[in-house]
Amino acid sequence: MTLFERIIARQIPADIVYEDDTVLAFRDIKPQAPVHVLIVPKRPIPRIAEAAADDAATLGHLLLKAAEVARQLGLAQGGYRLVFNNGRDGGETVPHLHCHILGGRPLGWPPG
Ligand code: AMP
Repeated sequence: MTLFERIIARQIPADIVYEDDTVLAFRDIKPQAPVHVLIVPKRPIPRIAEAAADDAATLGHLLLKAAEVARQLGLAQGGYRLVFNNGRDGGETVPHLHCHILGGRPLGWPPG
């Protein structure tokens, strides 16, 4: 069971900001911006590189809900960033697909 499956199963506490049948969104434990939320599919997909055609609806839903969560958390006007870290060089540390929602300050580009 991945760390995020354990959060979904309420075996590990998390500061949940949104939930429906398909996704869960919760605050990152080590925030990199004033707002830093992770949104994950409840049905585990290891990473975007391993997503399959039948994950399309889940992934589309996840992106639309990421924008909704960002709006609810007050990021719509100032802007925000959505990030999927994929694999070692991408900085992925948890093998359960997750979208970082980052905002509340100007974000540098390119990432370090
Ligand atoms: P990544 O490096 O893209 O795989 O992102 C994993 C993220 O999970 C990191 O930003 C961590 O800070 C975050 N994280 C790790 N453990 C927890 C936890 N128990 N609750 C919330 N976020 C976590």
